[in-house]
Amino acid sequence: MQGKPCQVLSYSVRHGYDVKDLLSSYAGLLQRAIDIIWDNIKWVERRQKNFYMVEDSGRRVFKPYYTKRQIPVIPKSSAFKKNLRDTLIRDWASTGYAAHYVDTAIAIAYSIIKSWRKNYMKGLRRRKKPVIKRRFVRIDKMTYRFRDWRIRVTVKPYKQYLEFDLSKAWFRKKMERYDLGELILRENDLIVTIRKPIDDRKPQIRIGWDLNKYSIDGFSPKLGWIKIDLNRLYHIHRVHEIKRQRAQSAASKKPSIRGIVSRHGERERNRAKDLVHKITSTIAKMFPNALHGFENLNKHNMYSESRKHNRDISKQNWKQITGYMTYKARVRLVDPRKTSSTCPMCGGEVKLRKGRGEVRCTACGLTLDRQLCGSINIYLKMCGLPQRPSTFYRAVIRKMIPRLKMHMRSLGRVTAKGAESNDMPSMNPREGPSPMKLKPTLSTTVLLSISYIYNMACTTM
Ligand SMILES: [Zn+2]
Repeated sequence: MQGKPCQVLSYSVRHGYDVKDLLSSYAGLLQRAIDIIWDNIKWVERRQKNFYMVEDSGRRVFKPYYTKRQIPVIPKSSAFKKNLRDTLIRDWASTGYAAHYVDTAIAIAYSIIKSWRKNYMKGLRRRKKPVIKRRFVRIDKMTYRFRDWRIRVTVKPYKQYLEFDLSKAWFRKKMERYDLGELILRENDLIVTIRKPIDDRKPQIRIGWDLNKYSIDGFSPKLGWIKIDLNRLYHIHRVHEIKRQRAQSAASKKPSIRGIVSRHGERERNRAKDLVHKITSTIAKMFPNALHGFENLNKHNMYSESRKHNRDISKQNWKQITGYMTYKARVRLVDPRKTSSTCPMCGGEVKLRKGRGEVRCTACGLTLDRQLCGSINIYLKMCGLPQRPSTFYRAVIRKMIPRLKMHMRSLGRVTAKGAESNDMPSMNPREGPSPMKLKPTLSTTVLLSISYIYNMACTTM
């Protein structure tokens, strides 16, 4: 498992085998592994530093206070692990299933306990033992064989095998190029994973991305301003919101249809998730050798001064976008503090100009699109650069000059590689969004508003 960083691609292959017994036995095995690890966790009392916030003449100040907390220490010694394995194998032997399943179960049990611990430390989980609910079996490389486009999984050695024909699988090309990883067997399908090595060359470009309700705005001096439309995503939420409201008012009169209300939420989440996957995959493919900068949204709550207007749902999508990007491409997270309220050129405070979608610096007068301002700030932060006129000129303006010349020559907008030319119905990035106007999934247009920033910067410097 160690070695080069990999991106794991997964594909589902349907099957008609009856694997119920294997699935439930494996769930029992996994739960037993969790039980044993859980019972051997040592709880240590530790003093913990916390913060509370006070307002001091309009400013937020964080003050520390201390509490005592029970910290779980997960048993990891090799003696413990050997003992655990021996105990589980003794019980498992009676089922007749292959012994390798015990090893994957131990690995999963540890990762479940570790992720519980991580969340417990953050205060997101209670001191409560994790319980296995889903039915699945993880199959490591020792338990299956892949030959002539067929996967053969050992269920019971010399007795029972499962065969899966992948010769006609649509992802066959991917399998030719990369290694097959672990498999996950479920009741109706087999998840095949493929390990694709992540490009570990030094990134050629850096892009700062600002997440907004209707768009993702990227900035890189070499590429200019990249706008990715999120109207479709917004539309999904809007449509479901209306449906949910209708269903809720109906359910308040008729309790028997409450199930429909919760199913709406699930469908909405699935549709949004699917779209977020498409968007992030496209970004990763379009800029293969880039380092992407995003705001660290876990810190967002600490400084809630900005962006109050954005509701939870877009925050949820932002977290999802950032999360998916971290495993599809290289990502650097930056402190979100004041990214939308600071002037990228002089570090002064910018004020929103009403009805124009622009911000204007109160100190130097630089006027920029609100979203572009955010993405330039994120770009500067990810490069570790200060917001100073000299830096702004050197790191942003001067690097954009070749692009600007190209822009002058082509006189018009340039469509980025991979985007369809009819994707962007409007040239004006500041046009108000309309939830009722359905747009293509992705409209990724490099709006060369470089000249715009360039001119502004030159006239004010
Ligand atoms: Zn300024």
